[in-house]
Amino acid sequence: MMFSEKFVLADRVLQVAPSPTLAVNAKAKALRAAGADILNFSVGEPDLSTPIHVCEAGKKAIDDGHTRYTPAAGTPELREAVCAKLKKDQGWDYVPDQVQISCGGKHGLYNIFQAIVNPGDEVLIPSPYWVSYPPMVQLAGGTPVIVPLRQESDFDIDPSILAQYATDKTKAIVLNSPSNPTGAVYSRAALAEVAKMAYANGWLVITDDMYEDLFYGEGRVPHILHADPRLKDQVVLSNGVSKSFAMTGWRIGYSVGPREVIKAMNKIQSQSTSNPAAPSQYAALAALTGPQDFPRQLREAFIPRRAFFVEALESITGVSCVNPMGAFYVFPNFSAYYGKTFNGQIIDGSVALADYFLGEAKVASVPGAAFGADAFIRFSFATSMENIKKGMDRIKKALAALQ
Ligand code: PLP
Repeated sequence: MMFSEKFVLADRVLQVAPSPTLAVNAKAKALRAAGADILNFSVGEPDLSTPIHVCEAGKKAIDDGHTRYTPAAGTPELREAVCAKLKKDQGWDYVPDQVQISCGGKHGLYNIFQAIVNPGDEVLIPSPYWVSYPPMVQLAGGTPVIVPLRQESDFDIDPSILAQYATDKTKAIVLNSPSNPTGAVYSRAALAEVAKMAYANGWLVITDDMYEDLFYGEGRVPHILHADPRLKDQVVLSNGVSKSFAMTGWRIGYSVGPREVIKAMNKIQSQSTSNPAAPSQYAALAALTGPQDFPRQLREAFIPRRAFFVEALESITGVSCVNPMGAFYVFPNFSAYYGKTFNGQIIDGSVALADYFLGEAKVASVPGAAFGADAFIRFSFATSMENIKKGMDRIKKALAALQ
């Protein structure tokens, strides 16, 4: 694409679109700023504030002069704290050389793909997927291979379907459990099968564990490393403090895995961002090493909202919704309404329906098309119960007005 007589943009930029979730959120905020009574269900962040002790640690870091560059991989203290957390929570042994701190979980994933993907490499991505995986793989020169998951199986990963998409070019697989957008948690049985395939074929397994603390089942969420500890040299864990500690704006994530992969990622980070912001690293250190009741409080706040949302959606004729076992999203199927019209305008898919919800119901949501699943729309329940009740009333009325 030419942007002047003399210059063209790089081909890689033309392959990808900006993040649709950030775009919807921006549109909802702009409408609200213009005076519209918008209920925003598009947000991907907890509605509680960062815990006070974490904010205090960030402020103290500034007062103590932690305002300079840190090592590219992150401060030794924070990398050590990540290792201690993984030992305490999961019993896994890692050392700080196997940890990279990044500017949010998103940037950690970006670094991972940049470090491992060559042109022609294929990366298996179960769908519905988090919006950024395919463009990140493309930006690294690889090919995202989308593996469909089925609503009828509660969006569990299906090893037999996976096998149909694996080729000799498969380099890696991305696992995201609990999932954004479905809230699905992969079963232990399925993970054990995927582990066997990954081990036999030498795939790198990238586990995006961003929502691990927001699991509505018993105990800890099943993880592929527990399914088969032999995979340890093939697994890169991606996580961060954004969701568990309501720290989305601080931009701290972490990746943990084989030394060689982390070393390669550090090389990339040293030539791009240098390091994540120093005060944010001190705040994240307080989050990981301080009291751990906040993620529990968050989870408890979400439980009644989730129950209400799912029940309200399921009560609408033609709508079905899997009960999310984790994260803070519901992902109902609205395809029964596709083909209907409003004022002569046809609702031909999730983008048109989400637009209709925004225009007519003043409800912001994210079309499933953004996650590779056009039958669905994503609503976040990281908002008050009052908003959820109001929003569901509006959605019901808007759907009833379709012809
Ligand atoms: N992974 C998933 C599945 C997410 O939903 C998000 C954020 O929405 C991220 C990673 C990135 O989080 P961060 O804000 O730390 O970059």
